[in-house]
Amino acid sequence: MTQAPKYVYYFGPEGTEGNASMVNLLGGKGANLAEMAGHPDLRLPVPAGFTITTEVCTYFMQHGGQYPPGLKEQVEEALQKVEKAMGMKFGDPENPLLVSCRSGARRSMPGMMETVLNVGLCSKTIPGLIKKTNNPRFVYDAYRRLIMMYSDVVMEKAEGIEPPDGMGIRVQLERMMEELKHKKGYEKDTDLTAEDLQQLCEAFKAKVKEVLRKPFPDDPFEQLWGGIAAVFKSWNGKRAVAYRRIEGIPDDWGTACNVQSMVFGNMGDTSATGVAFTRNPATGENQFYGEWLPNAQGEDVVAGIRTPNPLNKATKTEQNKHLPSLEEAMPEIYQQLLDIRNRLERHYKDMQDIEFTIQEGKLYMLQCRVGKRTGTAALNIAMDMLKEGLIDEETAVLRVAPKQLDELLHPIVDPNAEKKATAIASGLPAGPGGACGQIVFTSEDAVEWTKKGKKVILVREETNPEDVEGMRAAVGILTARGGMTSHAALVARGWGKCCIVGAGKIKVDPEKKCMTVDGKTYKEGDWVTLNGTRGIVYEGQLPLIDATENPRLKEFMALVEKYRKLGVRTNADTPADAKIAREFGAEGIGLFRTEHMFYGEGSDEPLFILRKMILSRTAEERRKALDELFPFMKRDIKGTLEAMNGLPVTIRLLDPPLHEFVPQDEDKQAELAKAMGISVEDVKRRGEELHETNPMMGHRGVRLGITYPEITETQVRAIFEATAELIKEGKDPHPEIMVPVTCDVKELDLTKQIVDRVHAEVEKKFGVKISYLYGTMIEIPRACLVADKMARTAQFFSFGTNDLTQMGFGFSRDDIGGFLPDYLEKRILMADPFQTIDQEGIGQLIEMAVQKGRATRPDLKIGICGEQGGDPDSVEFCFKVGMNYVSCSPYRVPIARLAAAQASIKASRKK
Ligand code: ADP
Ligand code: MG
Ligand code: MG
Repeated sequence: MTQAPKYVYYFGPEGTEGNASMVNLLGGKGANLAEMAGHPDLRLPVPAGFTITTEVCTYFMQHGGQYPPGLKEQVEEALQKVEKAMGMKFGDPENPLLVSCRSGARRSMPGMMETVLNVGLCSKTIPGLIKKTNNPRFVYDAYRRLIMMYSDVVMEKAEGIEPPDGMGIRVQLERMMEELKHKKGYEKDTDLTAEDLQQLCEAFKAKVKEVLRKPFPDDPFEQLWGGIAAVFKSWNGKRAVAYRRIEGIPDDWGTACNVQSMVFGNMGDTSATGVAFTRNPATGENQFYGEWLPNAQGEDVVAGIRTPNPLNKATKTEQNKHLPSLEEAMPEIYQQLLDIRNRLERHYKDMQDIEFTIQEGKLYMLQCRVGKRTGTAALNIAMDMLKEGLIDEETAVLRVAPKQLDELLHPIVDPNAEKKATAIASGLPAGPGGACGQIVFTSEDAVEWTKKGKKVILVREETNPEDVEGMRAAVGILTARGGMTSHAALVARGWGKCCIVGAGKIKVDPEKKCMTVDGKTYKEGDWVTLNGTRGIVYEGQLPLIDATENPRLKEFMALVEKYRKLGVRTNADTPADAKIAREFGAEGIGLFRTEHMFYGEGSDEPLFILRKMILSRTAEERRKALDELFPFMKRDIKGTLEAMNGLPVTIRLLDPPLHEFVPQDEDKQAELAKAMGISVEDVKRRGEELHETNPMMGHRGVRLGITYPEITETQVRAIFEATAELIKEGKDPHPEIMVPVTCDVKELDLTKQIVDRVHAEVEKKFGVKISYLYGTMIEIPRACLVADKMARTAQFFSFGTNDLTQMGFGFSRDDIGGFLPDYLEKRILMADPFQTIDQEGIGQLIEMAVQKGRATRPDLKIGICGEQGGDPDSVEFCFKVGMNYVSCSPYRVPIARLAAAQASIKASRKK
């Protein structure tokens, strides 16, 4: 017979079998319990126990709740070791051992799965424990907790029972306890006497039987196996599944189950329980930070049943300063804990989140894990630990998640105020930071109100390019529809503006200028606050705190620069954005959209001329309009080239389908008709002729220039003349001409003929030498397939991953709202491919194009200018496939820089 694999790992004062590196098998909690118990540098007081591996969970789920053969024996063997270490016996009437069954997955999912404490208490063991401890109050307190947790976790949740709100067994039992306290005139749980608790336990058991139609199990082993199964089943509990969706944790990892000897914080005044962080998780300050409760069991602290006491002086607040700290109440224990804190930090070299329990004056460690922290704390802890010599520079750079930088760059909603605020709706966190303002429902109102010095939040069903001005004016944007790549989201991120999109609960009525949420109506002028980083809408005015110039951040970013190899540029359309991006460290512009001049502030005149151009019938008419447009183009391009003096600017030729600009309202049509000397009917007809069934794949990009070469010519001339003028003014412009939406090298060749000709003309006219690059956007799958040929003419490629994803998937990015949520929910896709590059599919197209392109032209410059250019995972991918740079919106530049540095460090560590 072959031996069963090892499913059970013991930990305890001696003979610990696991360690911190075995996270995948033992889960984070199990691996770190083993590390704390077994590592020679630590050997901390951890109550003995054992971990059943995540593989058992996987097996259990695949085999309809069966355990693999051999598990029972291994559990029994491990339990004997635990009994020996603790000098007690599970289920023994005289000297009973109690245990907890604790969940713990590879990645920490705090509070998402289940734990049962005090397993093993029953009519057989209760008298023995009372006799041994001489503390009936403690024993019945432990028993009532067991009944509450076990009936909830094992008998209800694990059985798939979903009672209506407020009717869950746990809530019902809690109500009974409250009633008893009330009847007796008690305030705190600790006021309940042994007799009270004993009676309560009997009443609890009767209630459990009545509600769940099963007696509360009175056999210790039945309880133990019930607890183990419930832990495994909690992997597929509602909360856990939802959390995995958000965090992108795979469903097949499974949880481990830790069975651990109980230690008791509820044995009286010399007993206690607590949670602490080795440093302040909100600010990062190097101070021991935590909370504790005398005479309580672990779950009381986190569940917020009582206001916990502060751990020490540093942790005192207005709410808890009247309560004694552990430092004051149990100074010796506090010193021990402080010593453990220092040893843990030296050992793990990172901030730890710990759980501890004090049983009659003796300290036990129950958990440690890397502590979650805010962006500010991450930054401060990384820089402090570097100075303290705990970590090296590379590790410091890896310690701040690129996403966390967001927090440090935008004003945010005061987290303390947020805790007490009323959330009215949630949506997608499209633009980071916080915003507080009065709601308005039209773009014009947003502009008007702002002019009067008010702060407004623009609320729209969805936004379109015509809202741009209002969006610019507003301090925040809220839409009921749209996804993360919807127009509003894109624009908001570009500006670093707080924005929430797709808040489906909100019903917007622009006519009546109000919105309704859950039956409550909010009128124009009402205040709301947005947390754009989390996607939450609050009623009223919450205070914002400023993310000011932070010297720490500068120091950190200097380190980042030391390790970064991938270039970072920005997508910017105006000199103002270019300037911001430069301050954030952008090394050029990767995408300048020429059509920007037709949106927003100051666009009236150029837009009017553009419309004339669009509706022209003859090349002559068109040329006339283009000539009128020319000075505007030149001015715009020149401004941005100047702002980026000395750095490259990739200027994209006109991209959108022209009909997008055709006026729809009568006034504008009439005005246009007058200017063109034609009838309004003609204007309408010509506009309608331009209508396309599928404009995204219609007459746009390079195709416009193929049909109307004069459009290309005018733009190219504007670029070269702007450049020539700057050179003459002693500046150092670096234009790069980028042709969009290409699928064949012949498109590039034809366009290049115009470029060459105009280039020669302008050089001659100005008498200067103009150097530039000529390249293309790669955004059509066919362009990837023929990238070797494209590179014959193109000197650079820039991946337009928005369109490449759209056309590679066949997903319309403006319509994905209708089905993408299902694709994510059903796990067909793990992430929105418009936010993070789909490396499996679209990634192959990109890699192929990089390889083919460089085979033709080894020095081909390659970058990305799609939205994903600011996404940390995508940045790492771009580095790996050998791109020269990524380009992203100004506020994402620091994020991309950090992600790029981390990619380099990770790659060099792999080698
Ligand atoms: P979570 O992962 O949700 O924090 P835990 O398994 O850590 O769940 O347990 C919940 C609470 O019960 C914690 O405060 C923990 O310290 C406490 N606890 C768990 N096992 C024991 C034990 N063997 N003895 C005493 N307290 C325990
Ligand atoms: Mg815990
Ligand atoms: Mg495109």
